[in-house]
Amino acid sequence: MKGRLRSTVGEDVYTSWFARMDLEAVQDESVHLSVPTRFLKSWIQAHYAERVLSCWQAEMPEVHRIDLSVRSAMRCAAPAKEAPVAVEARRTERSDVRPMNNESRAPGTASLATSHDALGGSPLDPRLTFASFVVGRANTLAHAAARQVADGRRGDPVMFNPLYIHAGVGLGKTHLLQAVTWAGNAGGERKVLYLTAEKFMYGFVAALKSQTALAFKEALRGIDVLVIDDLQFLQGKSTQAEFCHTLNALIDAGRQVVIAADRPPSDLESLDDRVRSRLAGGLVVEMAALGEDLRLGILKSRVAAARAHHASFDVPEPVLDYLARSITHNGRDLEGAINRLLAHSKLNNQPVTLDMAEREVRDLVRPQEPKRIKIEDIQRVVARQYNVSRSDLLSSRRTANVVRPRQVAMYLAKTLTLRSLPEIGRRFGGRDHTTVLHAVRKIEALVGKDIALNDEVESLKRQLQD
Ligand code: ADP
Ligand code: MG
Repeated sequence: MKGRLRSTVGEDVYTSWFARMDLEAVQDESVHLSVPTRFLKSWIQAHYAERVLSCWQAEMPEVHRIDLSVRSAMRCAAPAKEAPVAVEARRTERSDVRPMNNESRAPGTASLATSHDALGGSPLDPRLTFASFVVGRANTLAHAAARQVADGRRGDPVMFNPLYIHAGVGLGKTHLLQAVTWAGNAGGERKVLYLTAEKFMYGFVAALKSQTALAFKEALRGIDVLVIDDLQFLQGKSTQAEFCHTLNALIDAGRQVVIAADRPPSDLESLDDRVRSRLAGGLVVEMAALGEDLRLGILKSRVAAARAHHASFDVPEPVLDYLARSITHNGRDLEGAINRLLAHSKLNNQPVTLDMAEREVRDLVRPQEPKRIKIEDIQRVVARQYNVSRSDLLSSRRTANVVRPRQVAMYLAKTLTLRSLPEIGRRFGGRDHTTVLHAVRKIEALVGKDIALNDEVESLKRQLQD
């Protein structure tokens, strides 16, 4: 079984996460496994539950669940003893797409490591600097705050701590954070460490394994500016507790912390209340969707960068306008569009024309920005359709005329928004995430069979989407 798992997940992952997993017992349909730390437990649960289960099922088809428990208590500020949590054969709710940091970097781009390799800083892209960051209405404040942090000197009073920047995918969070790191380290006076939340977790778990947790903490606390990207991925009670200590220690010592995430602190539902309020206590800045001016600016700066190596490459003004107007969602696609035009015009030895652009970037063009649907809107529209009040949906009433609409509303909230089950539960009068999951599954099953319900759901979707 271990061999199968090892070949499924690969040697590195196996050694990092499963080497110390032990089999405790197999009972009827359940396999009981144990790991030494809570962190390992929650990490495995969140990321590998299905694969562990299917490895077992490959050999023992009767197995239907995996129970993962923590072998011995760990010295950590995590909450007191938890019961073993069952990992069932279902998709974990965190199945969201995880944009990798350097997903769209052009091949061959050097990834420079920071000078803090001993501490395992995440790789930095040399192109993501302030010089290449285009400022516009959507990001003026975030840029100014980031600049201020980057220009600070050791011992300067810290004006806002932490600086918390949030925005959707591709709106420049990583770019800005790496710019702060490059600029902040440039003088050599201060230590600025850039870590993805994932790297923070790896660093911590590796330190636990090699019994150097103390050294890890000391090292983290010895830096001037800690930059953490994609905080929404910080998982696991003990890592969060560790993050909380680190955050408090750094802030209390007057060190700067800079954080980026895809949502505001109040929506980081997996985090502890204390951490959330500490995060919200600094400066929280949102970067808005890129406006057309900003898109044009980014396109121009990309073209200029490309021309440094390919002098004959040029993109005429009307093409830039077309791209800025039609590629509306994120910076990654703007970069992708320029890369394609560059590749195409080089390979075919042709100048860039509007025709070529229309052909090449067709799939990046969205006729209309999809609307961001709010849970409140869903509740309002569902309540209206079923002739109940919104407060009925949020109430604890269990009469049939309220239960079904409530389930439909929760189902729509899960399928039309990016909110997690616990968050949806909270927005529906403080219900448990299992209740939401139950509702989602129920409606999913019903729309396949019940034509009338299917029509109602489709009509609700249409009302919400346009
Ligand atoms: P996020 O981390 O928010 O998902 P990134 O920082 O990775 O987004 O940005 C995606 C792409 O868009 C990168 O290539 C980045 O350089 C570019 N980009 C986004 N905003 C800007 C900006 N204001 N100026 C220049 N490039 C930008
Ligand atoms: Mg990013």
